[in-house]
Amino acid sequence: MAERIVIENCSIATVDADDTEYASGHVVIAGHRIEAVGAGRAPEGLENVIRRIDATGHLVTPGLVNTHHHYYQWITRGLATDHNLFNWLVALYPTWARIDEPMVRAAAQGSLAMMARGGVTTAMDHHYVYPKGSGDLSGAIVGVAREMGVRFTLARGSMDRSEKDGGLPPDFAVETLEGALAATEETVQQHHDASFDAMTQVAVAPCSPFSVSTELLKQGAELARRLGVRLHTHGSETVEEEQFCKELFGMGPTDYFESAGWLGEDVWMAHCVHMNDSDIDAFARTKTGVAHCPSSNARLAAGAARVPDMLAAGVPVGLGVDGTASNESGELHTELRNALLINRLGAHREAALNARQALRLGTYGGAQVLGRSAEIGSLEPGKLADLVLWNLDTLAHASIADPVAALVLGAAAPVTASFVNGRQIVEHNRLLTADEDAIARSTRQEAQRLARIAGQS
Ligand SMILES: [Zn+2]
Repeated sequence: MAERIVIENCSIATVDADDTEYASGHVVIAGHRIEAVGAGRAPEGLENVIRRIDATGHLVTPGLVNTHHHYYQWITRGLATDHNLFNWLVALYPTWARIDEPMVRAAAQGSLAMMARGGVTTAMDHHYVYPKGSGDLSGAIVGVAREMGVRFTLARGSMDRSEKDGGLPPDFAVETLEGALAATEETVQQHHDASFDAMTQVAVAPCSPFSVSTELLKQGAELARRLGVRLHTHGSETVEEEQFCKELFGMGPTDYFESAGWLGEDVWMAHCVHMNDSDIDAFARTKTGVAHCPSSNARLAAGAARVPDMLAAGVPVGLGVDGTASNESGELHTELRNALLINRLGAHREAALNARQALRLGTYGGAQVLGRSAEIGSLEPGKLADLVLWNLDTLAHASIADPVAALVLGAAAPVTASFVNGRQIVEHNRLLTADEDAIARSTRQEAQRLARIAGQS
């Protein structure tokens, strides 16, 4: 019989289809699944209860789901801080092209540790820089996620359009078309788990229109569909990208992606800032998902995505921190607030996005765009036990009337406990599955080593 953990006396935001909430309720975990959620105390007479948590003063929500990130950037934070996307990329590509396996491993540890201790239970990494001879970078990243016990999607990225082909990255930073496709297929074969409660999945993820050939996009889509995995890329991030697509392909990014087979319910795209009504309609019609990255879009002055319009049209939308070279904090719980604020500013409308919609973006919406909404993203019996206990009994939160408003609009709430697949991975804001101080030391060392190597070339 499965071991049970009972959590009681807490506020609960289930983020189910009806946005059911309980002012004081219980959650029962049985093994790696949620067995019960409801008002009041847990039912009497439950057998095999190994732990009972009195969560007075806490809000329990589904674990947060991050849908866009680049872990390697953890060791190039704080550089090119006043640049737009294209200038920032050109400034950083030469450094990024020097990464190796120990650097990528340390950067993944730093990124994932920061995510996990802030309530992320499902993470992802869009990794697209694979310098020749740099080692098994995908294996290193997947290994770190396994060690930390976080549910994980590796978006195996790639670039094959360099400066000589009109692209943005330098020639030495890209792979060949054939090399990228073969390595991506190998990564899917090695690491993708298609089962219901998978801890590791892989997506096919050529980087962007300005760093990838049309052929790699087309063949990448065919590969993903042959292997039964999802597709991810960057799209419609800046006006410069839109201009690039119009000049090179004679159409805007969304039409270009559609022509390459890149709209569909198995696709999710980061940013989608510069979308007109017909672009949003195309995403809604095809159920193409969006990873909304409000802080990164602000940091690079990309603009404000039209999330309220996307939601009204039925586009699946999740949240992303984006890489930490364009969002130094790398925390998803602060993105709930930023998503709300930026969408109200962008739309000039106080009702553009409310606190509950922001929480939904960071949980169920993320699960949708990763293709996992049947398993995670809401607290419902039968779903996987990925959930967070936010402490709202603090100086910062105790007098805020509404717990969901406290979580979204208040200061970043401390995480008393975070569970993934029924296993606790965070206690009182500290990771139980890794040594945070050792990670801080190794990320500093690897950042210094990368700066030294990049400075010599
Ligand atoms: Zn990105």
